[in-house]
Amino acid sequence: MSSRVRKRIGVLTSGGDSPGMNPAVRAIVRTGIARGCEVFAIYEGYQGLVDGGDKIRKLEWEDVHGWLRVGGTLIGTARCMSFKTHEGRLQAAENLIKRGIDALIVCGGDGSLTGADIFRAEWPQLVQELVQMGRCSKKEVEPHQFFTIVGLVGSIDNDMSSTDITIGAVTSLHRICESVDCIASTAISHSRAFVVEVMGRHCGCCGADFVFLPERPPSTDWASEVCGVVERHRAQGKRQTTVIVAEGAIDAELNPIKCEDVKKVLAEHLGLDTRVTTLGHVQRGGAPAAYDRNLGTIQGVEAIEAVLRAKPNTESPMIGMRENQVTWTHEVAEAIRRKDFARAMELRDPEFAEEYAAYISSTIVDTRSIKLPENEHLNIGIVHVGAPAGGMNAATRVAVRFALNRGHKPIAIHNGFKGLMDGNFEEMSWFSVDGWNAKGGSELGTNRTLPQSDLGAVAYQLQKYGIEALLIIGGFEGFKALQQLEAARDHYPNFQIPMVQIPATISNNVPGTEYSLGSDTSLNAVTVCCDAIAQSASASRRRVFVVETQGGKTGYLSVFGGLATGAITVYVPEEGVNLERIRKDIDHMRHLFKSDNPKRSLGRIVLRTESVSQTYTTEVLSQMYMEEGQHLFDSRTSILGYIQQGVTTSPMDRIRAARQAYKAILYMEEKAKGALGRTDDVRAAAIPMRICNDFDSAVIIGIKGSSVIFTSIREALRETDMENRKSRKAWWWSYRPLIDVLSLKVAHANGIPDWTVEKVEEALRSIECDSRYY
Ligand code: ADP
Repeated sequence: MSSRVRKRIGVLTSGGDSPGMNPAVRAIVRTGIARGCEVFAIYEGYQGLVDGGDKIRKLEWEDVHGWLRVGGTLIGTARCMSFKTHEGRLQAAENLIKRGIDALIVCGGDGSLTGADIFRAEWPQLVQELVQMGRCSKKEVEPHQFFTIVGLVGSIDNDMSSTDITIGAVTSLHRICESVDCIASTAISHSRAFVVEVMGRHCGCCGADFVFLPERPPSTDWASEVCGVVERHRAQGKRQTTVIVAEGAIDAELNPIKCEDVKKVLAEHLGLDTRVTTLGHVQRGGAPAAYDRNLGTIQGVEAIEAVLRAKPNTESPMIGMRENQVTWTHEVAEAIRRKDFARAMELRDPEFAEEYAAYISSTIVDTRSIKLPENEHLNIGIVHVGAPAGGMNAATRVAVRFALNRGHKPIAIHNGFKGLMDGNFEEMSWFSVDGWNAKGGSELGTNRTLPQSDLGAVAYQLQKYGIEALLIIGGFEGFKALQQLEAARDHYPNFQIPMVQIPATISNNVPGTEYSLGSDTSLNAVTVCCDAIAQSASASRRRVFVVETQGGKTGYLSVFGGLATGAITVYVPEEGVNLERIRKDIDHMRHLFKSDNPKRSLGRIVLRTESVSQTYTTEVLSQMYMEEGQHLFDSRTSILGYIQQGVTTSPMDRIRAARQAYKAILYMEEKAKGALGRTDDVRAAAIPMRICNDFDSAVIIGIKGSSVIFTSIREALRETDMENRKSRKAWWWSYRPLIDVLSLKVAHANGIPDWTVEKVEEALRSIECDSRYY
């Protein structure tokens, strides 16, 4: 091995393919090279490992260009029986040793990672046998006494317990939601019922009337259950019915439930014109969603770091595992077999149980089981504030329906605080929010008016409509609105009610949460646009597109959009831009275009957040590129503008919206109940609750890691940079260096002074401590 190569690392994808595997391989190859390693693709999964020959090939920086956009796996995958045999694994070990490969990164599901673990455990024995059999010399095996294996969980089923989410699961949900949305529209036309078979479990976000899941089996009399629900929904005015049957669905006695069984029940018991659709491989396909591109990328980078960190006796690290605890799917299967469904749910990720509860309590009309006693019922006002964002409607839908199931009165306030002051209130019904989970924008209407402009009018209208709890859905204006109402509580007793804000803005800048609603929808919109722009740039060969994104004073969309689309660089308010920086970028761009293969010359994109500089505007930057690029490249601009709000709400935003709206209502109930005990006499006088004024009754509900958290507005203010309208700490900022690592073509080898192997290492070190992305 040449002394310059730190390690030779093999990468393979195995088992079922999943969108996001290619971004992971791209990141592994590029980070590996940037860290002084050689990376070998092993084609066709374990089969390539056993076959060797040209199935093991070194990948160069350019080889993985454009891979972010491609679904499936470009290095192939196969089921390989021989790797399950000792002889197969012996051959695999020989092939690796002969090529000097000393580490392997495997991206696959349960089976693939089990295989990897067996291989690692067996390695010393395999090496010994190879020497004894004379297939390898002692000298050859000398540097290979230990073998490092790192696993990445790539699977569309999200079937690995202890993993927050697997690479590919979110894209698969995109396909499922798109398909179910399409089916719903044809179902409405014909007043039909559709029974849809899907692979994943997170399908609650599709808004189906009923779902059958293996971990939550219905009783053996599920036919009455499903018919009861469908009838109640039809009675509310629904013209269509969608029932989802997850693969492997069973009843409580473990009898399988098939789509055809459900169809028969709906047709025979209810006389519905019922059709069956099996989504099948559609769910595996298509361009990876922004989330999976970034998950694959970040985990790919982390895999290289794990390889370089590995010591002889460390176990195979599984990237993305909660506390590195692997609970294999077969444990879940075993729990189900024992009919221990509670255990099966427990083994799953904790969000899943919450998602499921949010789904059930907001999708099925339930007039009895979760209803609260009458004296706990509340009039809940719901208002949208600020710019529209995906998920505002989805959150409203869940809040309205869950509130109705609890016996509350949900009251929509149209047109933001302006509408509130004008008394634009409307009591919401179950059916009034039908289909809102998919709809982008804001059905209630939203604007930037703040309560401060007429606090008296706000208090008057809240009193008039007897509002006893307020749900604010919006971005930084929503945050300010909450702050103003809370600060004015002493003067206006009508503000002494539970108030919860669900952050919703494409900018992702609201303190108290890691993700605001709409930020994922927007990231996908940016990603799709950048894909089209990058394609155009590549077609015209030597072109740099300067793409302008929104986001206020926050560079989230540029950084995560840039990561998802392979931008060469980003200009963001967090670091600003000056002449020196532009000069360096132009040098780098020249360098890239100069070293391009003339036959495959590529276009490039850079992302610029609109507020980064008043002088170096998108147009000015582009003109500077153009001028300096001379014969090497030219430049164009693209301003994404309102396109970034997206059309349909992404599955991730739907799921987050449902969880947060559900928990927001529960939180309000708890706070109001606490106040109720103290205010029975006040209630009797029909005056809204008056003494819900403790700090934690005015809160922001947010996502942190895999949990939903509440932060009081007072506490949140402490970490808020009011001038720049954002939190002082941004978790996502530590990923900023990845843009440079993954786009700076082997910079250290080509003498760009800013980037060396050590610099790359330093940049990546900051990321290691922060794996909150997954
Ligand atoms: P997934 O990884 O998606 O669960 P499979 O279960 O089909 O998919 O596994 C993919 C491949 O991993 C198999 O074809 C086989 O080569 C390897 N593999 C699976 N289980 C084992 C095992 N117990 N021992 C060795 N190799 C295995």
